[in-house]
Amino acid sequence: METQNCIGGRWQAARDGREFDVRNPADDSLVARVADGGAADARLAADAAAQALPAWKARTARERCLVLKKWQALVERDVERLAALISREQGKPLAESRGEIAYSNAYIEWFAEEGVRAYGEVIPTPAASKRLMVVREAVGVVAVVTPWNFPAAMIARKIAPALAAGCTVVAKPAEDTPLTALALVKLAEEAGVPPGVLNIIPASRERTPEVVGEWLADGRVRKISFTGSTPVGKLLARESAATLKKLSLELGGNAAFIVFEDADIPAAVEGLMAAKFRNGGQTCVSPNRVYVHDSVHDRFVDKLAARVGALRVGPATWPQAEIGPMINARAVEKIERHVADAVARGAKVVVGGQRVRSDVANGPNYYAPTVLTGATREMALSGEETFGPVVPVFRFATEEEVVGEANDTPYGLAGYFFSNDVRRIWRVASALETGLVGINEGAIAAPAAPFGGVKESGYGREGSHWGLDEYLHTKYLCQGNL
Ligand code: NAD
Repeated sequence: METQNCIGGRWQAARDGREFDVRNPADDSLVARVADGGAADARLAADAAAQALPAWKARTARERCLVLKKWQALVERDVERLAALISREQGKPLAESRGEIAYSNAYIEWFAEEGVRAYGEVIPTPAASKRLMVVREAVGVVAVVTPWNFPAAMIARKIAPALAAGCTVVAKPAEDTPLTALALVKLAEEAGVPPGVLNIIPASRERTPEVVGEWLADGRVRKISFTGSTPVGKLLARESAATLKKLSLELGGNAAFIVFEDADIPAAVEGLMAAKFRNGGQTCVSPNRVYVHDSVHDRFVDKLAARVGALRVGPATWPQAEIGPMINARAVEKIERHVADAVARGAKVVVGGQRVRSDVANGPNYYAPTVLTGATREMALSGEETFGPVVPVFRFATEEEVVGEANDTPYGLAGYFFSNDVRRIWRVASALETGLVGINEGAIAAPAAPFGGVKESGYGREGSHWGLDEYLHTKYLCQGNL
């Protein structure tokens, strides 16, 4: 298991020898002690990335594609080992961890293939003596900072397009889950990513601002690609202004999921199950507010409660587990706070509504899959991401009212709705102020599609050709005197 920094192809302890603990959220046991990087490590990583840039950028796109394809093959070879690592440090059921590795690898494959299509343009000339061309060039050294909820996917879908575009990378994985990221970097090295092209510095919560701060201040780092919370995203936007870096910010969400009166109700329940309970509700696109039309409310809630009540809660190692532990004690406390606040303001608990402690789920971080009815906009869970397995159901009467409610948030990542009225589908899809819209579908992310938000959910896209664009500059060449 890799536990050290990787700088310029050398795996090493932090300069000052500090380490931090990575714990299994299922039982709080120690998984590993990991190098706790600081400013000196971050600076060396940026030096290595800057040095490696010219040669990597000068390789042909096809050569970089072949390295990425090799990386993809190695990740596939090691899927079981990597999935087990995700489950140990992050807690999600093993089947989901395998799915995450397959999903990560689909991004690596996509960008390996997309990198060779970074086309420029020849512009019709305004004068016979001139030729006008546009070429796409790597932006340079990229700093990547990722969250804990998808320890492989979040970092793969940043590193793969960066490398495909010809950029070099310095990365800082989430403090809760650095081990999967380190394992992926090791495989990239085995695949032939040259020393210095991909550097990684894990750091504890305390030391993270020091590491990222070093990159923010470094004029050689030309781009930051960040996934995480909106407050940290805003901080990075402010702090990177001094060197005017290009930014991609994939931030928090507050997704609405709307069930109209003309929806296919069983399909809507299944769509919600898929969207809500992946990773125990700890996803940025997880429906946080579920709006159900008055006329179908009870039917929908009955079916939903039956499905949610049957979900099995337990550790990743339990083959039947569908909901694992939450990432840490703070996460469970937030869920408890949201449910208590909702109940105090009149919500009714239909299923769940409490922590789970059983023979199987024998740890501090388990929370029961929960359905609440009678949710209102005054409740904390209406305005903040709960990031857990809680479905608050709001009632609504008209399309206009529900679209207004759905959009009444500073966030704009994902939105979902179920309807069989083709005119309503076009109306509501265009009215929702989000970067992603699921229409009669709960599982919407795909490597070929652009993922990202509007409003305070950030800017920039991951996946698709737009995801590659984030790592490319547009350079205009004008040749005259012909
Ligand atoms: P977080 O913002 O606390 O942490 C994300 C990363 O930022 C971590 O690597 C962390 O170490 C780092 N970080 C924390 N403080 C920092 C600072 N002062 N300076 C520099 N870096 C710092 O978020 P989290 O709790 O790890 O993740 C959950 C959040 O991420 C949720 O809000 C969720 O919606 C969001 N998220 C968004 C997407 C998306 O694609 N939009 C995907 C997954 C998660």
